[in-house]
Amino acid sequence: MEIKLESDGVCLTLSTVDKEKNIEFKTLVKAYEIVTGDELEITENNTEKNSHSTVANSFDDNRDDYDRMPEYHQPVKVDLMCPWCGNNEETTTLYGNRFMKCPKCGNKVFLAFATSRRGVPDHRGFYYKANEVWRDYEDRKVDDDLIDQMKSKLEEHNA
Ligand SMILES: [Zn+2]
Repeated sequence: MEIKLESDGVCLTLSTVDKEKNIEFKTLVKAYEIVTGDELEITENNTEKNSHSTVANSFDDNRDDYDRMPEYHQPVKVDLMCPWCGNNEETTTLYGNRFMKCPKCGNKVFLAFATSRRGVPDHRGFYYKANEVWRDYEDRKVDDDLIDQMKSKLEEHNA
């Protein structure tokens, strides 16, 4: 599988070593975010469309999990343990957010997925656990390997 993403004059080509294999959805999301510099919004419309197009193949393995994923910006439960003030409470945030503000002290707390799979809640129903300090640079933290690959592609291109 090979896919080319292009935005604002930046082009990123992803391909699998084994041509028969699909690129993982989360990799596509990352790549999209690198090229556009935006956080990818997955709307209901998109998922509807994708389920009937070729991209659907990538989801076959975890179809059930994917169906259970909350909609973008749907309120979901967060297990907050504020690293700034120690505030420990169950609260909610909007699905897709990267950080939240502690209701007590107002500082930014990083939203980590509660389980190893994005959009899948833990056994208590929490989608996120928030117990790490959010730093603004996290916003731009992306897969280093992909960045390196992209840089070398650009160098090849410019050589
Ligand atoms: Zn706090």
